[in-house]
Amino acid sequence: MADIFTKEVRSKIMSKIKGKNTKPEVFLRKVLFRLGYRYSLRYKFKELNFKPDMVMVSRKICVFMDGCFWHGCSRCYKEPKSNRDYWVSKINRNIERDKEQNEYLKKNGWKVIRVWEHDLKENPTKTIIRVIREIDESVKK
Ligand SMILES: [Zn+2]
Repeated sequence: MADIFTKEVRSKIMSKIKGKNTKPEVFLRKVLFRLGYRYSLRYKFKELNFKPDMVMVSRKICVFMDGCFWHGCSRCYKEPKSNRDYWVSKINRNIERDKEQNEYLKKNGWKVIRVWEHDLKENPTKTIIRVIREIDESVKK
């Protein structure tokens, strides 16, 4: 991909986020929307009963924004000191469910884009560019 694309997108994104103080997931949604991407926040996969954070139905793309704690991020996750057993089994279930959903979606021809909370927080622009690239790539195929 040409550098110019990145620069354009970068400056577009930067112009949208100046002075904004929003939650990372809201931020990603807003930027994508303002760049012209359309998605559903309520689309539900009934068979496994789950709702991705964003679903681009016509493109067959699901975007998940995974909280580092809830999804057991290997970089950020720290075991809570109290109720340890409860949390360990809960988080393990979440991780298991993530895998199931990924497999289900891929099997049915969907593209899965997963974004870690820490990436969005630490490197919002870079992360959004990555997401946009993944979205655009799947259209060209
Ligand atoms: Zn993390």
